[in-house]
Amino acid sequence: MSATPERGSTGTAVDVVVVGAGFAGLSAAERLAGEGRSVLVVEGRDRVGGRSLSGEVAGVRVDLGATWVARRHTAVRDLASRVGCSTTGQFDQGRNVLWMAGRRRTYSGTVPKVSPAALVDMARVQTALNKLVASVDVDAAWESPGAGRLDAVSFGEWLDRKNALPSTRALMTVVSKVQWGCTPGDVSLLHALRYIRAAGGIDHMLDVEGGQQQDRFVETTQEIAKRLADRLGDSVRLATPVRRIAQDGHGVTVGTDFGEVHARYAIVTAPPAHRADIEFDPALPEQAEGLSRTWRMGVLSKAFAAYEEPFWRAGGLSGEALTDTGTVFITFDVSPSPGGPGVLMAFCDPRVFDGFDPEARRGRVIRQLVDLYGPRAGTPIDYTDHCWGSEPFAPGGPNPAVAPFATVSYGKALTEPHGRIHWAGTETAGEWAGTMNGAVLTGQRAAERVAALLSRDVREGAPR
Ligand SMILES: Cc1cc2nc3c(=O)[nH]c(=O)nc-3n(C[C@H](O)[C@H](O)[C@H](O)COP(=O)(O)OP(=O)(O)OC[C@H]3O[C@@H](n4cnc5c(N)ncnc54)[C@H](O)[C@@H]3O)c2cc1C
Repeated sequence: MSATPERGSTGTAVDVVVVGAGFAGLSAAERLAGEGRSVLVVEGRDRVGGRSLSGEVAGVRVDLGATWVARRHTAVRDLASRVGCSTTGQFDQGRNVLWMAGRRRTYSGTVPKVSPAALVDMARVQTALNKLVASVDVDAAWESPGAGRLDAVSFGEWLDRKNALPSTRALMTVVSKVQWGCTPGDVSLLHALRYIRAAGGIDHMLDVEGGQQQDRFVETTQEIAKRLADRLGDSVRLATPVRRIAQDGHGVTVGTDFGEVHARYAIVTAPPAHRADIEFDPALPEQAEGLSRTWRMGVLSKAFAAYEEPFWRAGGLSGEALTDTGTVFITFDVSPSPGGPGVLMAFCDPRVFDGFDPEARRGRVIRQLVDLYGPRAGTPIDYTDHCWGSEPFAPGGPNPAVAPFATVSYGKALTEPHGRIHWAGTETAGEWAGTMNGAVLTGQRAAERVAALLSRDVREGAPR
């Protein structure tokens, strides 16, 4: 990996240039290098991993970005085992805490059993949602039956039309904040349905045991990316934002602050919103341009509080909490072992978090953890947090918060190549869009497509 490129290091020529060193870009490069193609990954940040980033609290490595992997996420699991990373089950034994409408209760299972009426309402709304989810084509949501109608309302408006009870709405708001980094009113119903379908349905999306929160990686998710990048060696160039991609009948020229890279093809893995930061020559067609202008990134923040031990477990609590009040809206126990340290991971609402200074952010989180887990939560031995909306380069995550009308109008442009430029990245996945697994699959697929084109060029005697 070359970390500090020198200005003026121009003229590199490879078969394929890959933009972005997240899971998609590194997987594309691994596949291409494995097929004997020369490849260069150009990454704008000074690190690999994209939306996967390791942090540390009380000496424990934690995931500031992507964390969990489902059993069915076989592509990222295979990658992790190739580079020697292993999984551990997400702890979920004991009762969960619910803080809703100013009242604290505990419950077991995924869905809080607030009252019989609330349970019935949740089941009713989930059934209606599942029916719509089943109607969506995960590879081309914009061509699904009734796509125009489903894309004309927000998820929040749909909940209004269904007369969802406040308890159902509160749970769906948590889902929306975690998945799309926005409230249900800010995301198109069709976009939400596409992501729920891609996640294997609402139950698989929400569940720990047997669901998307089944396991975590012991070494952290960014470590997987780092080890893969180490294998790729000098084929990964960091701190090199791509500013411009020009193409003609023979190849592409990628412009960076440190010179140009020439290649036969490019694979761009930046999320759609960040494609807009690159100048394309010739310009992107109208639909692709619309995609990058409208598929804005959602935002989410995470905080970690560490204690001598996971004291909540002794009180029969799992460390999982749901709340509709304040900054923190969901917590999980990510302690490395029962002996300690105990680590609580809290998802925070950026609207009432990111604008504060670090000390104020810490105060807000710890006060809420005291409400949820009692006075012992008030004296952590360490604390850290991360605001994805404040990243200096390629900010946002976990996923795009796509407003009504933008999926039907522009969704097709997610994967449609622009001449010699091919697209990858988790947003372009069908199944597993929005996850590391989806990212790996799209990188591998784009690499295979481009490798086939390179072979065709050789057969047809295209000049090199
Ligand atoms: C808080 C949070 C929690 C998450 N939790 C989970 C989880 O539990 N499980 C899960 O599976 N997924 C989770 N995700 C989602 C997961 O991180 C992503 O789906 C996945 O990492 C996307 O990989 P990618 O390669 O497609 O995109 P990215 O990781 O975004 O990589 C794209 C790369 O392109 C680079 N780039 C962009 N523009 C340019 C440019 N012009 N020039 C050069 N480089 C550029 C970016 O810097 C970035 O490194 C989470 C994400 C966040 C933020």
